[in-house]
Amino acid sequence: MILDKEQLRKNLDEVIWNIEEARITVSEHHIVKLVIVSKYTEVENIATLYELGQRAFGENQVQQLKERINTLDDLPLEWHMIGTLQKNKINNLIDLRPVLMHSLDSIELAQELNKKLEAKSSNISCLLQINAAREETKSGVAPEKAKDIYHEIRERFKNITLKGVMTIGAHTDDTKVIQESFETTRKIYENLKKDGASICSMGMSGDYELAIKCGSNMVRIGSALFK
Ligand SMILES: *Cc1c(COP(=O)(O)O)cnc(C)c1O
Repeated sequence: MILDKEQLRKNLDEVIWNIEEARITVSEHHIVKLVIVSKYTEVENIATLYELGQRAFGENQVQQLKERINTLDDLPLEWHMIGTLQKNKINNLIDLRPVLMHSLDSIELAQELNKKLEAKSSNISCLLQINAAREETKSGVAPEKAKDIYHEIRERFKNITLKGVMTIGAHTDDTKVIQESFETTRKIYENLKKDGASICSMGMSGDYELAIKCGSNMVRIGSALFK
């Protein structure tokens, strides 16, 4: 559905206001970046959100990311890859030069990615995805292994720049369980700060205020903006 500018302005204002309220409870100095997830919406809405001041957008599929980058080529947008990366799409993703890939979820993927980056003399910034709630349906590394895997990727794969961690909140209505998954990830993030981690990407439409209160500094929001 293509939304008019006033509707998108209203939705964006509401989300920004909620982010503001949540971040101020953490600290005046706690800055949160909004990445708008455009995977379910029309390209027209992305252009309108750009007019309203938004720059950062995220997609979860390489093919759609490519189409959108091409269509919106004349706008100075910042693109994030947030979805699971299939090995056969690695070369395509590298060529798109996203500003950040949130979903590096295994050593094997890091190895493949690094090999192809080397061949292209390229590099990419990534977050290590953590399966904080240990859900079978989700990708990501187990929380207790995250620190070692982070270090291993940093040491072995020089064309990958790790910038922090990402998680998807637990899939449940139980707020306590969701909060635990965010807190688990936040602790890992705090531990990795001395290794240069600066991004803790967590929070989606249903749980971003909670995620921010648990220390997130990057939220990925889709459906709350497109209603
Ligand atoms: C779709 C998606 C989002 C946004 O989800 P909404 O609930 O629509 O805000 C955030 N992160 C990831 C990894 C996603 O796939």
